[in-house]
Amino acid sequence: MCMLIFSNKATSLPYGLQKKLEIAHALGTTIKLVLLDELAESEKGIPRRVTEENYKGNISSEKRRFTLRFLFFATEEMCYNCCLEDNMCNHPDITRRVCGMKLENLYEILREIHGPQGKWWPGTPEEIIVSAVLTQNTNWKNVEKALENIKEYCKKDILHCLAKMSTEEISFLIKPAGFFNVKAQRLKNLLTWLKSYNFDLEKIKTKSIEEIRDELLSVKGIGKETADSIILYALELPVFVVDAYTKRLLDRLLGIKLKEYDEYRLLFEKTYPRDVALYQEFHGLIVEHAKALCRTNPLCATCPVESCKYKNTKK
Ligand code: SF4
Repeated sequence: MCMLIFSNKATSLPYGLQKKLEIAHALGTTIKLVLLDELAESEKGIPRRVTEENYKGNISSEKRRFTLRFLFFATEEMCYNCCLEDNMCNHPDITRRVCGMKLENLYEILREIHGPQGKWWPGTPEEIIVSAVLTQNTNWKNVEKALENIKEYCKKDILHCLAKMSTEEISFLIKPAGFFNVKAQRLKNLLTWLKSYNFDLEKIKTKSIEEIRDELLSVKGIGKETADSIILYALELPVFVVDAYTKRLLDRLLGIKLKEYDEYRLLFEKTYPRDVALYQEFHGLIVEHAKALCRTNPLCATCPVESCKYKNTKK
């Protein structure tokens, strides 16, 4: 038994659906087509069912105007690809009622593909603080070159050393990282904040994560991604780092698009336990996946994630 539910909230049918239907139909699967009026909810807040009919070999032009909300095939492959919430699926076989792709599964899926990443962000806590600023709008190779210059010049204790330098001198050292004047000024601002703690990271950690985050965000040039990277990787406190890769992956894999940075962060922090090692590795896995496979032009044909929403709607 298979059920196709269409809603009047959106506008197009997924590509490839007709083919899948033809196969299921030829195999003798009973297919029900259900049309929902989501703009006319019942008293209980459930969208009203407008029509229900058996599939006879094609989808009427009326339904073509609507979007398929979910596909409930009685085959494991199709159930696996379905991202319907568990509590909405009434498949009698409970083992099939687990959606293949959920945020809860993402860490395990990515870890299986890319292997353990450990802490992922390299360097000492002091180097991480500096590289969190250097990495803004550039690639890691350039960050490494700039960091090498700093380490070669300072030899040790890079935070104290940089704090004693002028913005121009820092600019010169970090030239390979690009936007060096802007980044030098940002580093200076950050170093002023660190100096108020005598560059003692343990002293900073006596404050709550919220306080540290607020203080970091009040430093000119330090945005949420940079602040959270410093908190998670340098101070080793549990806050989830969100970047453009995280947003892209959530959109493609799960169809989740949120407005604010903190909405993404809280979604991860509510779904996964607040664990430093987990968040460090998870963010690394997301970046690795986005760079290796889920690029701007995604390599879906070679990507092992079968339950990806994007992949399945493009088929
Ligand atoms: S299947 Fe394609 S869109 Fe989905 S995660 Fe893999 S590369 Fe990205």
